[in-house]
Amino acid sequence: MTHNTDIIILGAGASGLMCAMTAAARGQRVTLVDHGGKPGRKILVAGGGKCNFTNTEVGPDDYVGRNADFCRSALARFSPWEMVALLEEHGVPWEERDHGQLFCRRSAADVVEVLTSRCRDLGCRFEMGRMVTGARRDADGFIIDCEGTRLAASRLVVATGSPAWPQVGASDIGHRIARSFGHRIEPVRPVLVPLVMPEGWQLGGLQGISLEAGISTGGVSFVRDLLFTHRGVSGPAALLASCHWLPGMPLQFDFLPGVDIPALCESPDHRRQLVRTMLTRLLPERLATRLIPDDLGGRKAAELSRADRQRLADAVRSHTVVPTGTEGMRKAEAAAGGVDTGEVSSRTMESLKMPGLFFSGEVLDVAGHLGGYNLHWAWASGRAAGEAI
Ligand SMILES: Cc1cc2nc3c(=O)[nH]c(=O)nc-3n(C[C@H](O)[C@H](O)[C@H](O)COP(=O)(O)OP(=O)(O)OC[C@H]3O[C@@H](n4cnc5c(N)ncnc54)[C@H](O)[C@@H]3O)c2cc1C
Repeated sequence: MTHNTDIIILGAGASGLMCAMTAAARGQRVTLVDHGGKPGRKILVAGGGKCNFTNTEVGPDDYVGRNADFCRSALARFSPWEMVALLEEHGVPWEERDHGQLFCRRSAADVVEVLTSRCRDLGCRFEMGRMVTGARRDADGFIIDCEGTRLAASRLVVATGSPAWPQVGASDIGHRIARSFGHRIEPVRPVLVPLVMPEGWQLGGLQGISLEAGISTGGVSFVRDLLFTHRGVSGPAALLASCHWLPGMPLQFDFLPGVDIPALCESPDHRRQLVRTMLTRLLPERLATRLIPDDLGGRKAAELSRADRQRLADAVRSHTVVPTGTEGMRKAEAAAGGVDTGEVSSRTMESLKMPGLFFSGEVLDVAGHLGGYNLHWAWASGRAAGEAI
């Protein structure tokens, strides 16, 4: 098949757009193929429409994946400030929020506009509304099947993301294409997703309550805002925990992080109070009532035995439950798992199995914590692929 483009990029999302503008700036003819009507649909919903596009501090520890070091090389070559510089060049206002998160001040649409206009200025072609169903190799390069039509190029980038949040066109096509070229797929699971608790959970029915809490699972702990939902927990603490939680694992909550409850019971401010009164001043009342062991709430704090003080501390600071699952891909901001990074070059993102085939973004087994890390990985890996291809 004759080629009227050098490179086909599957997916005009965050990573595909960054890869396209980088390769086109090096003089390559680039075509982006996407089944959406418009590019960057996931960018538009990111950060509640304000797009948490990066973080002031980004490093391999902010990511999960089987090979934790895979992202190091690409991250080292694309700093958060390069993304800031790109947006500033186009007059996009941004702001820093807590935990180093950088957001657009106006709208996520600003980011999409910068990337798409840069691509267009550099001559990239957009083939929108084209559903990719597969890809294969022939003597001249790669053939892409798009529901009845075919496209061809000598090099191919798979930047079709993960199946998380299918409402904006997310799919597993990238994993299927990778598998067809002999790549192994690390099992895919929803992350940055609310967790569902068992029927009859001691803290069920507290929906609407939010507070700062500690949360631990899989050997990792976070202290962030937690929100009780109808079916379990959400908010930054729960979403972060979901990156490290696997079915069957317990989750431990610390509802008074850093507070020494046995010492509190003896403190001059609290020793004469009923345990119930003491804790409802420190925690939302409905939550405190559920947490306090039945036989302790009506007793004076100073009168508790050492064992009872410890029992109270455990109830409040080590509440343990095994979630029944997550709210699934429809409510997940990302997916962990994906193309096995042991079979891809961490410097160029090129397949180690099929020369000319590249992967970038969330299709790979790299998932970031909450805080702008997933988009940063999309930019950094797209840049690495675009520089090498
Ligand atoms: C609700 C929500 C909020 C988020 N907020 C943030 C945030 O604030 N900060 C952050 O860092 N990350 C955030 N993320 C995650 C972030 O958006 C993704 O990690 C990032 O977009 C991944 O980039 P990507 O290029 O790999 O994939 P995508 O941006 O998903 O792009 C993949 C593209 O492939 C196309 N595609 C898929 N299947 C096919 C097919 N069969 N044929 C043709 N085209 C196809 C899709 O239409 C899409 O345009 C959020 C995600 C969601 C869902």
